Amino acid sequence: MITDFEYFAPKTLKEALTLLDKYGDECKVIAGGQSLLILMRQGLVAPQYLIDIKGISELSYIKSEGKQGLRIGALTTHRTIEKSPVFRDKLGVLTEMENRLASIQTRNWGTIGGNICHADPAGDPAPVLMALNATLRMASLKGDRTMAVEDFSLDYFETALEPGELLTEIVIPPVPPHTGTAYTKFNVIESDLATVGVAVSITLDSGDGICQDVRIALGASAPTPIRAKQAEAVLRGKKITDVLLKEAGEIASTEAEPISDIYASEEYRRELVEVLVKRVGKEALARAKQA
Ligand SMILES: Cc1cc2nc3c(=O)[nH]c(=O)nc-3n(C[C@H](O)[C@H](O)[C@H](O)COP(=O)(O)OP(=O)(O)OC[C@H]3O[C@@H](n4cnc5c(N)ncnc54)[C@H](O)[C@@H]3O)c2cc1C
Repeated sequence: MITDFEYFAPKTLKEALTLLDKYGDECKVIAGGQSLLILMRQGLVAPQYLIDIKGISELSYIKSEGKQGLRIGALTTHRTIEKSPVFRDKLGVLTEMENRLASIQTRNWGTIGGNICHADPAGDPAPVLMALNATLRMASLKGDRTMAVEDFSLDYFETALEPGELLTEIVIPPVPPHTGTAYTKFNVIESDLATVGVAVSITLDSGDGICQDVRIALGASAPTPIRAKQAEAVLRGKKITDVLLKEAGEIASTEAEPISDIYASEEYRRELVEVLVKRVGKEALARAKQA
């Protein structure tokens, strides 16, 4: 049962930050409510003050800014990202990821910022954003700061947000030439969270097709989304072959720290990491060759 709380609906970022500063630990921010309301209904979270930020229109946008890359306001819904021509044309991997995230109803309400701040290690956006080398902007009354997406999740459902801080923006840097990025998740029920999710981004040298850079991000494979850096090292500086991708998958499965739960055993998740790194790596490579 949800306990009583006092409700605020600020219309500006400044108003929201002032409320957060005033009520500190006794308040909770709500965006789309798709994750928070479940916790509140279960009695796991019972704030005295609820600050509904969904009406802050200045935090809902998608901007394509040339050399500065793409900027997404934290309150942009999953559905807006899925339907945005900006991503369909320039970063189709985000469109594909959003298209498989939850149901349309949840995508209509849930925000990308809320998803990242919920810090479920099985969430879809974080591994993709890690593969794209994205950063996060946070604001408080003390000012702004930025952080790489991969540093933001500290543990299961725990983030680097300081008291009084809101996530305001996700920044995706320009994608280098000859880069391909792909993502997939294995899930038992379509439109559910990942049992394991894998994102891979590969950048090739223009001349000889050697792998100049690679980023492999794993979801639902550890307490937080992680980079499989030893697996990346297998591919970087080499001409990528099926044999190397298989080796990268094997190494990534040893870097994962999965748990056993009702969806899959630890061993099964390691198998999934091995198979998906190879499969998604192959897709990212094919895209890099066409880019
Ligand atoms: C049936 C169902 C299926 C789902 N399936 C998937 C799936 O397949 N893949 C997936 O990735 N997700 C899935 N989700 C999660 C969902 O899609 C949401 O995207 C997300 O978890 C929460 O977004 P929200 O805006 O609703 O956040 P809320 O629920 O409002 O908030 C979540 C948390 O983030 C905090 N918060 C929100 N916004 C901010 C901000 N700007 N700054 C600081 N803190 C903030 C809140 O205080 C709260 O702790 C599913 C959810 C449901 C209900």
